Amino acid sequence: MKIEKNKVVAISYQLKVDDGETGMVHHETITDENPFYFLFGHEAVFPKIEAAIEGKEAGDTFSVYLGYEEAYGDYDEFKKVIIPKSNFKEEGKKNKEILKVGRVIPMQDDKGNQMRGEILKVDYRGVHMDFNSPLAGFDLEFEGKIVSVRDAEQEEIDHGHVHGPGGHHH
Ligand SMILES: [Zn+2]
Repeated sequence: MKIEKNKVVAISYQLKVDDGETGMVHHETITDENPFYFLFGHEAVFPKIEAAIEGKEAGDTFSVYLGYEEAYGDYDEFKKVIIPKSNFKEEGKKNKEILKVGRVIPMQDDKGNQMRGEILKVDYRGVHMDFNSPLAGFDLEFEGKIVSVRDAEQEEIDHGHVHGPGGHHH
């Protein structure tokens, strides 16, 4: 079965990231046993990856190089912000337990968009957070394999995402 719009595709891959010094370094491995599932043609993955695997079948391999502007975009200084400590309240927890450097916290902006911010430091001014993707500004290289391809259920197409193993449970 060939990959086309509204197929559920499972891929395994190795992701390498250009660290700007030594070159491409290993960042992440997704195995055949625990692949990444997505609904093809619904912007679940970068367009260049969809273009590289369209028409391929289970067992085929692919290799994609993404410049940072085709991946997570440029690193943006304006996504580093200072937020008042009083905004970080969790029931029954002290600020000290919540505000740990390196911790990644899901938050919402004033338009209700979900974003994840990493705590860089905490000082008298507040909580210094970075809402850039950890891979912002990096060139990426995917070496991967098509693990499986199947037809999507109508409900999956309506929702725009995969259900069952590797997908949404609801
Ligand atoms: Zn759904």
